[in-house]
Amino acid sequence: MSDDPRTEPTSVKVLLTSGEGVAIEWRDGHRSRYSFPYLREECPCATCRERRARGQSVTQSRIRGDLPVYQEPARAVQAEPVGHYAVRFDFSDGHTTGIYSFEYFREICPCEDCRAARKGEHE
Ligand SMILES: [Zn+2]
Ligand SMILES: [Zn+2]
Repeated sequence: MSDDPRTEPTSVKVLLTSGEGVAIEWRDGHRSRYSFPYLREECPCATCRERRARGQSVTQSRIRGDLPVYQEPARAVQAEPVGHYAVRFDFSDGHTTGIYSFEYFREICPCEDCRAARKGEHE
């Protein structure tokens, strides 16, 4: 466990029933919202890391036949805590191997500020 307030959630809401996604509030006051299709796309498992390294989205992998065909945008059907540091999702397209640590959640925060900060790092 790190003591970094940037990666320590004070509130985690997984909105399974409404399908809205995940809302996290962090100890440094930052708030993050993730849609389920976005989380599915950014899945941290080895297979998905390889997929992204090839520059492929989930949809492109389906079209190429690397993933089973599934028309709807994926959503989470179940979420379970992994220790105190991560969450694992069962996605509606059958993908269940991604374990999302809070550090990773913070890393992929889709808000404009974080996107801009990440873009800066890559340049
Ligand atoms: Zn994955
Ligand atoms: Zn953010």
